[in-house]
Amino acid sequence: MVPYASEPVPGGGLDPMLLAAAHSASIGNPVEGWLQGGVPLPLHGKGYVFNPLRDPQRRHGTVELLQVLIRSAAAVDELLPGNRLTINDISLPGGGTISGHASHRNGRDVDTQFYLIDHRGRPFPGKAIPIEPDGTGVDYQDLSIGDDDLPVKLDVPRTWAFVAALLSDSAAHINRIYVVEHVRTLLIAHAERITAPAAVIRRFGHVACQPKFPHDDHFHIRFYCAPDDIPAGCEDTFPIYPWHQAHLAARGQTVKLARGRTKPRPKLTSVAAARKRALKKYGQLHPEVSDFLERRKAWVDKPHPGRPYCP
Ligand SMILES: [Zn+2]
Repeated sequence: MVPYASEPVPGGGLDPMLLAAAHSASIGNPVEGWLQGGVPLPLHGKGYVFNPLRDPQRRHGTVELLQVLIRSAAAVDELLPGNRLTINDISLPGGGTISGHASHRNGRDVDTQFYLIDHRGRPFPGKAIPIEPDGTGVDYQDLSIGDDDLPVKLDVPRTWAFVAALLSDSAAHINRIYVVEHVRTLLIAHAERITAPAAVIRRFGHVACQPKFPHDDHFHIRFYCAPDDIPAGCEDTFPIYPWHQAHLAARGQTVKLARGRTKPRPKLTSVAAARKRALKKYGQLHPEVSDFLERRKAWVDKPHPGRPYCP
């Protein structure tokens, strides 16, 4: 039998599944920290692909984050084969400032697309397509013309299976899942329908919340400091959930809370700003795009319906 270790890693680097937790350390907090011993996510694996349109330098994370991410994508593929997760930015090789993000500095933040399907239920490649409250979306492609529009749907069963796998993996705990409120609601409704474990639904209900930047087209997932990274200088940010405290307490450890700046600078994407950007790029918007931007106000602009923005 060929040993697993001799398999080439897509994109090069070490196989994160074979590394010890101590290989990497996430230093500081997600908006001011850096990354030691960061490992590149293999460019593709069972049930996932690193977005080929992103700079591959942006796929470095802690061993713990990569392992949980890879295991969760594989678990979805095992349970509901046929679609795959598209993974976007994690961190740069040494962490630190990364353009386009306020956080993603120390290998503990990752953006992923939602799983999508087309109007016939076939897998649709992971793309940043805003999902509306009814779970549908449109890949408008060129915003100035209507003929090229492709209707898509949130692939609710696989998207739920992914977050459920993340939250059930005891190797690393999730601190936050930033996502628009109505996608959170759709996922919880599905989980209740399929009678998913109540503890997982409850945990998702806690960790998932909508920030001011709406996250209606992707998840931003933040992991807590791994226990072995805390002595090295890893700092967590609120909220600290009881199950995470208990997990650390069992190892004789406590959370080290971040001092200094922990909040990203405010980045409120208004519908007006989105319209202005789109107009600049396309010259004109076809009426369906304008209609969509009007509808989008309901979940982007204040007042935010339902729960408050996450703190
Ligand atoms: Zn992000």
